[in-house]
Amino acid sequence: VSFGFQDINANEKKERVGQVFSSVASSYDTMNDLMSGGLHRLWKDRLVTRLQPFAGMCHLDVAGGTGDVAFRVLRAMAEDQTRQQEESDAPTPVQLGQVHVCDINPDMLREGQRKAGQQRLGEGGGLSWIVGDAEQLPFQDNSMDAYTIAFGIRNVTNIDAALDEAFRVLRKGGALHCLEFSQLALPGLRELYDAYSFRVIPQIGRVVANDEASYQYLVESIRRFPDQKTFASLIRDAGFSGVSYENLSGGICAIHSGFRL
Ligand code: SAM
Repeated sequence: VSFGFQDINANEKKERVGQVFSSVASSYDTMNDLMSGGLHRLWKDRLVTRLQPFAGMCHLDVAGGTGDVAFRVLRAMAEDQTRQQEESDAPTPVQLGQVHVCDINPDMLREGQRKAGQQRLGEGGGLSWIVGDAEQLPFQDNSMDAYTIAFGIRNVTNIDAALDEAFRVLRKGGALHCLEFSQLALPGLRELYDAYSFRVIPQIGRVVANDEASYQYLVESIRRFPDQKTFASLIRDAGFSGVSYENLSGGICAIHSGFRL
């Protein structure tokens, strides 16, 4: 099964990506755990450690899907709020701040809202769910303290447009952190990794989610994504300063960071 994404135009890609995520939305979290052996949780934890959330911040998580990153950011903001509140003598309460979860796919966001409800997250505010395209964000210029995108940028049709939009919505001093599958830094592992991704992952998709084709697409999209250095230069081209990256699990993933100065 192959989507043959090489031969399709931008609109078709957007439509097919939409179909993939609508199809996987309800099994998405289970599949993430199965495919990565739970590692995706540690990678997301690391993303949020690098972000260093603080109470009162205005945060945007793009391609936020079922809310995994947003929930971590909100919890870290709430911890900082409590800590500041305990240390402060001021009569005015410390504000929690706001996490905006933006995704092009309403089915993924609905799944996230259901999870947030189960975990009683964002009940007192602080969490908003917005359908929107990373290439045309429905947010004002200079309005965000930070921007994250986890396993999302490779699904976007025009990566340059998405990076330009990230730069536009960030205020001066704001940070971009992007977690994405990348190229293995240890070449000896490539054959093993290829065998796992091309043979095993689509089969897990078939058995667990009854959807081999969508998971075949996910594997193909990982292989087509630029390597660490190439992606860092795209981030620089969008205007970001201090661009760096950190490999996770030997380069299976990388977190790229940059600042709007
Ligand atoms: N960030 C979540 C996580 O790490 O669990 C979800 C990642 S999921 C692999 C990719 C998400 O990107 C999907 O929810 C999909 O709908 C979203 N997406 C794809 N193209 C997008 C676009 N152009 N703008 C915003 N979201 C997009």
